Amino acid sequence: MDVSVKPEKSGLPLGKLNYVMTAVTLLISALLIYATYRTSSGYERVNAATANYIAWEQSASSIKDATDYLTEQARNFVMTGEKKYLQNYFLEVNVTRRRESAMAKLKGTSSEEAYSKLEDAMRQSQAQMSLEWYAMRLTISAYGYNPSDFPVELQSTTLLSKDAKLSRAEKQERAQQMVLDSTYLEKKAAIDEDLRSYLTTLEEATRSQQEQTSNEMRKLLETQRLLVITLIMIFILVIIMNSFLIINPLMKGILHIRTEQPIPISGSYEFQYLAKTYNLMFVANQKKANALAYEASHDKLTGLYNRVEYDELIKSPDMLTSALLLIDVDKFKSVNDTYGHDVGDKVLVHISAVLRESFRSNDYICRIGGDEFATIMVNSGPQFTELIRNKVQRMNDKLMHPTTDDIPPISLSVGVAFGCEQNGTGSVVKDADLALYQVKEHGRCDVAFFTPALCAMGIPEKTE
Ligand code: GH3
Ligand code: MG
Repeated sequence: MDVSVKPEKSGLPLGKLNYVMTAVTLLISALLIYATYRTSSGYERVNAATANYIAWEQSASSIKDATDYLTEQARNFVMTGEKKYLQNYFLEVNVTRRRESAMAKLKGTSSEEAYSKLEDAMRQSQAQMSLEWYAMRLTISAYGYNPSDFPVELQSTTLLSKDAKLSRAEKQERAQQMVLDSTYLEKKAAIDEDLRSYLTTLEEATRSQQEQTSNEMRKLLETQRLLVITLIMIFILVIIMNSFLIINPLMKGILHIRTEQPIPISGSYEFQYLAKTYNLMFVANQKKANALAYEASHDKLTGLYNRVEYDELIKSPDMLTSALLLIDVDKFKSVNDTYGHDVGDKVLVHISAVLRESFRSNDYICRIGGDEFATIMVNSGPQFTELIRNKVQRMNDKLMHPTTDDIPPISLSVGVAFGCEQNGTGSVVKDADLALYQVKEHGRCDVAFFTPALCAMGIPEKTE
């Protein structure tokens, strides 16, 4: 099988394409994973900022609540003189300490700027408490309570001499005035303002952080969308490439192999290489098969059909409408003996050339033995008798008068039988053989046709 000729390079190389596609897909997937990770961490940051803001707001409102509570308890005590309000007040100041624990929670979680606003609020609150304590001390004095029964903060608060001199009712009035007048209310408003300002600062910071993060997330989401679209396009491209470069050429290839045809050259470089190699092998194989078939049916020396093919042709139903000419070279042994075997071979080749030019191209000319030939003239009946006789005469004329010196004169004896008249021996071959025998018996270099009369003479013994 000759496949030494290398197929030309053409088509997209699937191997390289696969590397490129894999690298691009891996890169895009890695970018996509990174973008997804960044988006989720951005989302967590927004969540944390919101949670922080809520915590700050809760702490700020807890400071305000505690301040309001102290105001309320202080006022209640000043207005009613009931000690339980005072106890509530100091329980908040010394035990519950909502403001202090909120401050502790907020320290370090919000910006310095915001926290300083909170410290201002606490300072204002402390200042207000001094006022409250003074008002409460006045109330204790107004009600004639023993100061040593009260918390140390109140014991250490001393009344101004002008206030100490006031009557009980005046002390009560002065105390109530202190926790209700505009100075007190302004201080309270200042605390609220500091708390509000603290929250506004935090709100702005939170909003700007949220805006920054959501801008980042928007960009990340756009990038993700682009990457996903690119991945989808790569998948579609892979499917299209698969069908154009591999599946379609494979299906066509299989179909052509089944119908014993060369494979169409299409698809990837690798498939085209395979198809071209297959096609080269296919052609080489076919040539070899043709050569083998030719060898099996043709004679090596003369190129005419051989005995094997002749035996097949004879069996064909076409023989019923054909004439069979059995041809034997006269005294051929003596050619070999006189001129040698090589010259004998040349004579045989020469005879085959004469036979070829004497019959139609659709007639079958065979070499069926050493110096025996046969011609099957298709579509020929007894009406061809004269024509055949003339053909044999012309051939013998030619062979008896060779134009070159290297070939001795030679003649042919021919026995003819027509397929349509197989009523003699029952076989056209035997009929033609009988006719040939007659020619050999009656001097050779002639042609005889089988007739039933010949048949009546009986079938002669085959002589070598
Ligand atoms: P006849 O007229 O009775 O046919 O006499 P003949 O000498 O031709 O006798 P026959 O046909 O029996 O002899 C055929 C001879 O052909 C015998 C053999 O030596 C010779 N022969 C057979 N095959 C070949 C061949 O391939 N080449 C050559 N040169 N001679 C062959
Ligand atoms: Mg002979």
